[in-house]
Amino acid sequence: MIRHCDEQPPPPSTRVEVAIVGSGCAGGTAAWVLAEAGKQVLVLEEGPDKSGAQFTQRDSEMYDQLYMDRGGRMTTDLSVSILQGRVLGGGGVINASDVVPIEDPVLELWQRRFGLSEWTAAALDAPRLRALEDLSANPIPEAMLNRNNQLLRQGAERIGASGHVMRHNRVGCAGMGTCLIGCPVSAKRNPRQVAIPAALSAGAEVWTRARVVRIVDGTPKRLIVRLLDAKGYRETGEVEVVADTVVLAANAIGSAALLSRSGLGNHHVGQHVSLQPQLPLLAEFDEPVVGFRGIPQAYAIDEGEHFDDTLGLWGYRIETIMGTPGIVASLLPYAGLAAKQAMTQYPRLAAALLLTPDEPTGRVEVTSSGRIQVDYELHANVVDRYRQAVKLAARAYLAAGARRVMVPSLPPVLFESEADLARIDAFPFRPAQAPLLSAHQQGGVRAGPSQSSAAADPTGQIFGSRGIYCWDSGLYPTSSSSHTMAPILATSRWLAERWLSQPLTP
Ligand SMILES: Cc1cc2nc3c(=O)[nH]c(=O)nc-3n(C[C@H](O)[C@H](O)[C@H](O)COP(=O)(O)OP(=O)(O)OC[C@H]3O[C@@H](n4cnc5c(N)ncnc54)[C@H](O)[C@@H]3O)c2cc1C
Ligand code: SF4
Repeated sequence: MIRHCDEQPPPPSTRVEVAIVGSGCAGGTAAWVLAEAGKQVLVLEEGPDKSGAQFTQRDSEMYDQLYMDRGGRMTTDLSVSILQGRVLGGGGVINASDVVPIEDPVLELWQRRFGLSEWTAAALDAPRLRALEDLSANPIPEAMLNRNNQLLRQGAERIGASGHVMRHNRVGCAGMGTCLIGCPVSAKRNPRQVAIPAALSAGAEVWTRARVVRIVDGTPKRLIVRLLDAKGYRETGEVEVVADTVVLAANAIGSAALLSRSGLGNHHVGQHVSLQPQLPLLAEFDEPVVGFRGIPQAYAIDEGEHFDDTLGLWGYRIETIMGTPGIVASLLPYAGLAAKQAMTQYPRLAAALLLTPDEPTGRVEVTSSGRIQVDYELHANVVDRYRQAVKLAARAYLAAGARRVMVPSLPPVLFESEADLARIDAFPFRPAQAPLLSAHQQGGVRAGPSQSSAAADPTGQIFGSRGIYCWDSGLYPTSSSSHTMAPILATSRWLAERWLSQPLTP
């Protein structure tokens, strides 16, 4: 059963076997596995439950209702916008639906450098395949490549850069183009469509508009849960949930923040955070592109992406993207009349995101006022790869016939021919100068064999807190992939199954 706590407040105290915080890729999957095994599971989700026409395709309503901090979460220096879902089903409800699994070399690096000796390709093979099955992963059909995607591919082919059409988790997609603010025809095979219904059928209970603000360790554990109003603006009451086992699946940042807020875990909690910041790039064409219709992100130039023996996934990747009018307007480096004029070009714009895996040097803290603070410094090696990626992407767009390519920074960096490419070398990438976006947060509850290097053991159990686990991407010591949905589905299932097969001895 789903209890919408804004309509039907729960009793003051509820006793369960397993309480799961968060209902996204990690929490939904864990709930499904544990409920099917007969565990009494309660999923606590602070977001609302939305479906069908409730995804109104309107920027202002949907960012407000479907995103953490209403889409306004930023790093402390305002350099990186941190995008995360806040809805039943989590980020899968508002993501771009690309399916890119975790690759063997990443797992090998985690074994070699971070001591995760059990996280082997062989151990994770079945869960990785199962994740693809649960996502109904399939290649994006050629007929669904809109002009935005075709142009990047055309340009890549003309300059001889390698690329590919990606896999996605859409079934029955109507090409409405608003994937990042929810799919009105439920075409995404996301946790809200797959894991949550399966968990409910297996007997799990789900509460929405239920925010866990603190976990009190002990036997059993107590979770302090604040109930929210229908819009999620105000707290309307407080109840407690008592559980034998707690699973954190609140997203890398949310899980680390909840541990900090509860005073749990060691000094690695909140450390080693990777944001994989993405730099947007816009290209203006004379022809109509109409990138806001159809699948926004289907093609990737993979020329610059590679594995590095010590750093893991490295280099950069260039992927198409398109946003709804509000998000595109917010990214343009203009105000007033100039912004209005720039938006008249919206139908002629193509857009890409330049995605750079990074070293996990970010930090999550909770301030004395209770706010989540994310500190992140843009490293020279990331800036260097932005410059390489900008040059390659700009060359591709110019080869495809763009009249102008723009990094929408302050001030904008413009390219009208290849002779202009060196302009990006002079752009300093000072804090908050370029509108960087993070969609793939990882780390913050790093897993490892010992307290000296990690916040959780390889099973996800928090050091110092028996029976409290983190099963989301907070555990990852480096970037798992260029995209995180398929990796999280796989590792969450694997960790839940391991937990079932190796129960804790008191
Ligand atoms: C705009 C965007 C586009 C993306 N595109 C892709 C893509 O194309 N392919 C891909 O593979 N990945 C993509 N991702 C990343 C991917 O969607 C996420 O990594 C993934 O959904 C994270 O899963 P999760 O279960 O760890 O966390 P989430 O899915 O974020 O779920 C965590 C849930 O916990 C809830 N929560 C947090 N704190 C609390 C609390 N204290 N109490 C109760 N509930 C709480 C949140 O409301 C949220 O619903 C994208 C992400 C974004 C934001
Ligand atoms: S493009 Fe497809 S998946 Fe995205 S919102 Fe439209 S119908 Fe849904």
